[in-house]
Parts: sequence; structure tokens; C-alpha cells
Amino acid sequence: MRQSSTLIPTLREVPADAEVTSHQLLLRAGFMRQNASGVYSFLPLGKRVLQKVEQIVREEMDRAGSVELLMPALQQAELWQESGRWYSYGPELMRMKDRHSREFALGATHEEVITSLLRDEVKSYKRLPLNLYQIQAKFRDEKRPRFGLLRGREFIMKDAYSFHASQESLDQVYDQMYAAYSRIFERCGLNFRAVIADSGAMGGKDTHEFMVLSEIGEDTIAYSDTSSYAANIEMAPVINTYEKSDVAEEELVKVETPAQHTIDEVAAFLNVEAAACIKSLLFKVDDRFVLVLVRGDHEVNDIKVKNYFEASVVELATPQETKEIMACAVGSLGPIGVSESVEVVADHAVKAMVNGVCGANEEGYHYTNVNPERDFKATYEDFRFIEEGDLSPDGQGVIKFAKGIEVGHVFKLGTRYSEAMGATYLDENGRTQPMIMGCYGIGVSRTLAAIAEQYNDEKGLVWPANVSPYQVHLITVNTKNDEQRELGEKLYNSLLDRRFEVLLDDRQERAGVKFADSDLIGIPLRVTVGKRASEGIVEVKVRKSGESFEVSVDQLEATLTELLSK
Ligand code: ATP
Ligand code: MG
Repeated sequence: MRQSSTLIPTLREVPADAEVTSHQLLLRAGFMRQNASGVYSFLPLGKRVLQKVEQIVREEMDRAGSVELLMPALQQAELWQESGRWYSYGPELMRMKDRHSREFALGATHEEVITSLLRDEVKSYKRLPLNLYQIQAKFRDEKRPRFGLLRGREFIMKDAYSFHASQESLDQVYDQMYAAYSRIFERCGLNFRAVIADSGAMGGKDTHEFMVLSEIGEDTIAYSDTSSYAANIEMAPVINTYEKSDVAEEELVKVETPAQHTIDEVAAFLNVEAAACIKSLLFKVDDRFVLVLVRGDHEVNDIKVKNYFEASVVELATPQETKEIMACAVGSLGPIGVSESVEVVADHAVKAMVNGVCGANEEGYHYTNVNPERDFKATYEDFRFIEEGDLSPDGQGVIKFAKGIEVGHVFKLGTRYSEAMGATYLDENGRTQPMIMGCYGIGVSRTLAAIAEQYNDEKGLVWPANVSPYQVHLITVNTKNDEQRELGEKLYNSLLDRRFEVLLDDRQERAGVKFADSDLIGIPLRVTVGKRASEGIVEVKVRKSGESFEVSVDQLEATLTELLSK
């Protein structure tokens, strides 16, 4: 491609609203432009990287036995109503009406469409298993679109769905997809880790997220400092190793705590540790209210609450709801004397507390010498977030945290959709069975941004060769000089003949501008045709290391081939 005839609008200034490096550099290097919040155009360079990533995804999916198809982005509401997600998905699902007032959704994901397709087309166990994928734009009206392509409202996803007649078959394909994902992210050059994403009822082997390690990641990974254990912090269980001290239980006392609301305020006021306080939070779990207790120095993990109650929605009660249900404000809640209609559940750590502190459900008062079991009833489970320094859930080593960007997700769905939507087949004995499903997503455009986030320096992007928009950036320093221009043209054509991917900077710009743009764009190898063109000598520069050397034109091809294979 000739730079004079393509669109690479580079910027010298850092765009004001781009917070993270990948977003800034992809804009500055002219790979993309924003159209609306979370909605982007891929410009020619961005489109090429996207295609490279897609190609890697395609090759590995095909190799793993998944077959490509393409489903519509426009999906009828009826399908989502059948699965129930029309009502539960919430405002993230973009909805619209056609001219006949029929309702539609823009595809946020395709479980419904593919399940309805297989329901109609597959009737016998003989046609199973089937594993199908597509690469396509998805639409999600994210609450906070941000960080450019990392969280868009329209973005490119690869989504695959597998259908099975047995759990073993699903397990097998799940493992194949897991391996394919590992190869995909390796080929993209990413520093990533596969983490357990759901401990659920099945013991944590049934969904993994692929996380690119990055300071700007929105997810926290809890990993063991000694074993291979790694899980999303949302899902990491805390081992119950609390032991009750043998200090004598003292008499419950109600004390005045004027204007003291937070754990820190109350602890300071009563001169106790936060760990001696009970934190009480009122949650709305689907349509009932639950008081959740954790130790004052711990945080409630609402995902664990959600899983425990097998609920679809878990939210903190609003101040108004709290007032109605508990007859007091949020900062005064406690488990003593709570009405029967409110279930009280507590983290294991609470059970081991002796002579603790809790709210008295009355403004300006707390109880001291609170002893669980004696003073209130609760059901005990693991309800808190794991913390750094906690014992690793596999019993080996202690937990450390790292930040990650979720680029992929493999998930055993089971019969959630096939049962709701009647996707059944006849088994060997002629009995009707729901199909067992798995689903497997990759954020393709997010992966592109994650690569940019890991591969850059102070001058710009530094693409790994596998996903770089071009392999070679050929720069003619002075296009007005006949020898330089002619040699540039000649090398451009001969490298293209040899199937190199070449971007030729044939613009009438100053050398400084060309070099700065070239560093910003980040193609792995630069060939500069300059002063020694008449002698048949050019300069080769490696973007990553900055090393450069002179090469005679008849050695150029061999040099480039060797450098690219490194
Ligand atoms: P997140 O927790 O980041 O919102 P998710 O759990 O909603 O992700 P999935 O529904 O599993 O994501 O989608 C599959 C993949 O699509 C994710 O692993 C991620 O890489 C990508 N993805 C999801 N939402 C977005 C988005 N708003 N912009 C870009 N990529 C996304
Ligand atoms: Mg999401």
C-alpha cells in the first residue's frame, strides 16, 4: 500500500478523552476513529490488524473442529422472550421496533438465534456433536463504554456454540476450545492467563476466562504464589479456617454512638479494631430482602450471595427500601431483633467472633459484646471477597492479586437454553432429550486493543509480526530525488512480488515527519531509502530493539526474511 493513497491520519497530540495507552496510540497512529461513545470506525491500518487477529482465530477454530457460519445481528424479540432474557438482560440489550411495530434486539450474543436454528435443523443424536462459530459485530449498550475498543457498545466478537448428546462430549470439546484459545492468544503475542471464572455448583471447572495481564484491567485475578491456581476474584472461594478464641462471652450492651455510621467511624469511636465489628448490608435478592453479615475488615462478595440464593438479580437495597424494611438507616443496621421476613446470612468469619460490635437498627446506637449464635440466628457460608495473603483455595500457597483484561471466555451452558427453547433430539433409544450446550467467546476488537496495550514504547506502537498491519515499512526519504524515488519504487514492487506486506511512504513530507509516523505506527521492520540509494545501499531498522544497519539491495530480501522469522 502507498501511504500517499491511503488514510492514516496520525496525530501529534494525545487526544484529550483517551485515558489508556492503547486507546491513545490507536487514535494517534490513525488506526481508528470514534463515531459515538463506544462506537468506532476501523481505518485501513486498524482493519488490517483486525483481519490478522480474525485470521488467527479462524485458523485455530477450524483446526479445533469448529465451523464458521454467520447469523443476523437483527434478532426478533420472540426468541429472547422464549429464553426469558428479553426480561432479564436489562438495558444493555439494544432494542428497537420495525415499521410494523414488531420488536427486535441487536445481537448482544447469539445463544437464542443458534439454539432456534439447531432446534429446527437437528433431530437425531447422529448429527451431534456440532460446533459452530461466527465473527461479527455485537451490540451492548454498556453503562460505561470506555478505554476505546476495550469496552465498546459495538464491537467485534467471535462466538462459538457447541451442541452435544452427552456431558462427556461437551467436556471434550470444552477442552479443545480451551486449548485453541491458548494457541490463539499465544499467536497474538499476549501475556495472558486462563482463570477459573465460576465456582458455581459444579466445582469451578466449567468456565474459564482468558485474561491479558495488564495494570488497566477491570478484572482482578486471585492467584496462588506457589501453585497454578488462578481465579477471577469474584469466584475465588475462601477456605473456612477461622477459629473462635476462648475469651469469655460478656453481656450484650447497647451503647450510644452518635453520628457514627461507617465501620471505620464506629471502630474508632469505640476504640476497637474493624475486625471486631460486624458489617451488616441489606440486599435485595430477586424480590426478597436479605441481611448479609461479614467481618468489618472484609467485603461482601455479591456474586457469592447471588450463587447461594441461585438468584438472577442481587443489588444493595436503596436507602428508602432500607428505611421501609429495617426502620432505620443504612449505617445502623445489625442482625439483632430483625423481623422474620428478612433472612440473615453471614460469612464464616462472623461465626468465630467473640464480643463483637454491630448496629442496633436504631439511629445513634450500636451493640457491643455481640456473640453470634447467642444473640442472633444466621446461616453461615462463604460470602466475602478473597484477599491478598489469604490461603489459596487449593491449599497451596497464599493469594496474590493481578489485574486482567478479559479477552475470552469458555463456558459450559448445559441445557439452560435448549430446555427453555425446546431444542431437543432423539437419543439412541428414541427418547427426546435436550441438547447439552457450550459457548465460547473472544472479544476480537478487545484483543486488538489488548495487544496494543502490551506492545508499545514512548514513540508509539510496536506490533508483534503476527498481527502487524504490514511487515515492512519502506520509506523513501526524499521523493524529489530521482534515484531515491526510483529505488523506492523498485524495492516496493520486488518485495510485493515476493509476498512481503509492504507500506511504502511515498509522501512528500519531511524525513522527520516520516520517521516519527513510522515509529508511531509500529511496523516491525523499516527500510529507509536515502542518501546511499545511488550505491544500492539502504538502511534496515528493527522497531522493537531500535537496532539499525546498512544492507545492499541484493541482500535485502534475505535480511528481512531472517529478521521476520525471529
Ligand atoms: P465483561 O465482563 O468485560 O463485560 P462479558 O462477561 O460481558 O465481559 P462475554 O459475554 O463473555 O463478556 O463476551 C465474550 C467476550 O466478548 C468477552 O470475553 C470480551 O472479550 C468481549 N466483550 C464483552 N463485552 C465487550 C465490550 N463491551 N467491548 C469489547 N469486547 C467485549
Ligand atoms: Mg459485560
